[in-house]
Parts: sequence; C-alpha cells; structure tokens
Amino acid sequence: MSDYDAIVVGAGPAGLAAAYRLAKAGAEVLVIERGSYPGAKNLSGGLLFGRILRELIPEFPQEAPLERHINRYILTFMTKDSTFNLDFKGQGFSQEPHNGYSVLRAKFDRWLGEKAEEAGATLITNIKVDSLLMENNVVKGIVAGEEEMTANVVIAADGVLSFLAEQAGLRDRYNPANFAVGVKELIGLDRTTLEERFGLTGNEGTEYAMLGYPTKGVSGGAFFYTNADSISVGLVMHIDHTSSHQVSPSEVLEDFLAHPAIAPLIRGGKVLEYGAHVVPEGGYNALQKLFTDGLLVVGDAAGLGSNNGFTVRGMDLAIASGIYAADTILEAKAKGDFSAATLASYKKKLEDSFVLKDMKTYAGAAAFMKGDRLFNAYPKLVEGIFTSIYTQQSTPKENLLKSVLKARKESGVTYMSLGSDVWKAVKNL
Ligand SMILES: Cc1cc2nc3c(=O)[nH]c(=O)nc-3n(C[C@H](O)[C@H](O)[C@H](O)COP(=O)(O)OP(=O)(O)OC[C@H]3O[C@@H](n4cnc5c(N)ncnc54)[C@H](O)[C@@H]3O)c2cc1C
Repeated sequence: MSDYDAIVVGAGPAGLAAAYRLAKAGAEVLVIERGSYPGAKNLSGGLLFGRILRELIPEFPQEAPLERHINRYILTFMTKDSTFNLDFKGQGFSQEPHNGYSVLRAKFDRWLGEKAEEAGATLITNIKVDSLLMENNVVKGIVAGEEEMTANVVIAADGVLSFLAEQAGLRDRYNPANFAVGVKELIGLDRTTLEERFGLTGNEGTEYAMLGYPTKGVSGGAFFYTNADSISVGLVMHIDHTSSHQVSPSEVLEDFLAHPAIAPLIRGGKVLEYGAHVVPEGGYNALQKLFTDGLLVVGDAAGLGSNNGFTVRGMDLAIASGIYAADTILEAKAKGDFSAATLASYKKKLEDSFVLKDMKTYAGAAAFMKGDRLFNAYPKLVEGIFTSIYTQQSTPKENLLKSVLKARKESGVTYMSLGSDVWKAVKNL
C-alpha cells in the first residue's frame, strides 16, 4: 500500500496543474518543492497563454495574480544603430477570453499552489527530493534526506535539468545543443510612468521580441513584457552558440539595456530581481522518453518548450502536460495498474493535443534559429534599406530597387541564401 496516489516533485506550473487536477478528482497527492514557496525559484519572463489554464480553472482570470493582458506584439530587428519594428496591436486580444497575460512567477505559482491545496493536495516546501525510490526498475516513491515516501506514481515536474528523469533512465546526460540560457531582470517602474511610456490604458500590455544586436549575433533573442508596475526584460541565448561566440549572457544583457532604443524605456526603473535559468530549446526532435513504470515526466523536465523567435512558450505546455499526466494517473488508478503499458496513454494524450502538435509544427525552428544570418546579416540588411529610404542628400535619390540591391550587397546576403531563408522561415516558424 503506497502513502499517496501520486507524489509530484516540483511546484512549478506543470506539477501544480497535475496536483490540482488529481486532488479535485479526490486522489491523495503530495507536492514537494525545494523553494520556500512555489515560484520562489522561478524566473520566467512571464507571458502566459491562458487557454489551457482556463480549461483547468475557469475562474482563473478573476482570481489569479495576472499583471496585464497582452494586446500588442512587437517584433524588432535591431543593430547597434537601428531598430526596425513589426508592430501588431489586436483589439481582439483585449476581449475575454484574453490570449495571453504577463505574470510574475513568484506571485502566480504561489496562487496556483494555494489552489492545489484548496482542492486537497498537500504541499511541502523547503524540501529537496534527492532521488527516486526504485524496486526492480519500477519507481515506488522518492527519497528526501532521511525520509522515504511511496506513491503509485511519481510525477517528475522538477524543471529543465530534471535529474529524476535522468535517474530513471529516460533521458541522456545534458546536451548543450538542446538548451538555452535565459537571463532576466525585473525592473520596477511606477504605474503612471509605465503606462505613459508604453501608451497603455487599463490593463493592456505589450510584448517585445527582439532579434540581432540584443544577443550580439548569438542565436536567441530578447524579450520585454510590461507588468502592472514593472517590466520583465531579458535574453534567451542558445548555450552552444553562447560558448562558441565566447560571450557572457550577463554582459550582453547589460549592453542591450544600454542600447539607445532600450535605455529610455527603463529609465528611472529600479532593478527588483535578477536571475539566470536554463530553457529547453531542442524542440520536438529532442524529446526523450516521457514515462516508465511508476513515473511520468511533465513540463520543462520533459523538454516541452517552444521558441519560434516570436514567442518563448513553456508555461502553457507545462500546465497541459500536468493535466494529461493527472488524467493518466486517474485512469491507472481506476484500473489498479501503474505500469508503463498503462501510463503510455500520457504520451498519446500529448500527441493528440496542441502540445506535441504545436511542437511538431515548430520542429525545425530550433535549427532555423541557429542560422547566423538571422541575427547578423538580416538586421543589417533592414537597416541598410531603411537608412537609404529615409536619408535625404544633396545628390539625386535612388529608387527603392537600387537601395534594396545595394543594402543586400553590403549585408553579404546572397540571393540564394535569401531565397532559402525565406522558404525555411515560412516552413518552420
Ligand atoms: C528567462 C526565461 C523566460 C521565459 N519566458 C517564458 C514566457 O514568457 N512564457 C512561457 O510560457 N514560458 C517562458 N519560459 C519558460 C517557462 O519558465 C517554463 O517552461 C516553465 O516554468 C516550466 O514549468 P515547469 O513546472 O515544468 O518547471 P519549473 O517552473 O522550472 O518548476 C520546477 C520546480 O521544481 C522545483 N524543483 C526542482 N528540483 C527539485 C527537487 N529535487 N526537489 C523539489 N523541488 C524541486 C523547482 O524549485 C521549481 O519550483 C521562460 C523561461 C526563462 C528561463
């Protein structure tokens, strides 16, 4: 007889969504978190796409500590001297149900933890799980310090470097090609200044995704989200490129924040938080095994992340995987069978849902994003074209075609690479 139906290791969105769903259905569930509260150790930039959370907790828009609904998305190509924006404002995004919200994880995860507890889950914080309890290759529970606790199923929700999945033999050792490093600052700004500076009214918010100069040509990008009275700003850079280009993420972030287009946006702000964290970036092609006898892996621990240059997504995929893991455990409980054969329906649920379908759609994005031209040559090409369009001199002006041809030559982009990159972009993003 096990102590619990399920033990969830890690109180991030994946683990807490699973715990909430299980507890709501009357299962005995324990969540163990090494931080002093859920969210204490999280750092995400914080754009939460809400549709799956709405399925789990329909009342979340009224209850959760959401900062702003995002109704304006800006994609910026940046060089040292220029910025080129694709600026989309969708009034539809201001209507309920909102598409996405900026959130602060220290508040959001804490709230989700409280919801799981209200539903009946037990949450223990300040405890680090050291290892899985195994018997004949079957996961039977967890070991934390001197303590052993048993469960029919353990959910590994322990984040991107999941050592539980590794201990269970579900994933290889850490491969830098499948990960990025995220560095982030939370900058406090009084609400009136923030709203005036970004042209926001009510609870509207803006997301910026920036390519080129922000990462000093390393594949990745910068993000910028407006919160209620703060800004989340940071970089995500592929780890293998970061080391091959010999750049330090924290120095690159400092330079980015000093850029003439960025500095005025954060002027007068006070740094409230700083941190660095790993992000899964391998995408669909890097996914490894997601279950074994007595164990399911969810969220970042399972490598469920998606970055197509426009958006970094992980939270909604984490929540969805937590829900499907919980549903699988409830089915297994009804059958009284927690073997890998029964738990395999977790993978099927992910495959049938937007989680693996979206990851499959963007399967080529990770490789495309590592192409150097996207971060060096194209921002330069765009700068060349628009500098030429807007510059007036005492000499006669060239027409647009001539300006484009000249800028293309100076940027070093060949016709062949341009054609192939446009094709790859529409195919993979
Ligand atoms: C800089 C940055 C920006 C991002 N921006 C976005 C964004 O805008 N939108 C988005 O959707 N996603 C974003 N992400 C990704 C997002 O943060 C993750 O996908 C999401 O947090 C995954 O949730 P999770 O529950 O799987 O893991 P986590 O949120 O990492 O939670 C894992 C939890 O497990 C705990 N834990 C780990 N090991 C143990 C142990 N041994 N014992 C007990 N507890 C343990 C940790 O303390 C943690 O609380 C960003 C990530 C970064 C780093």
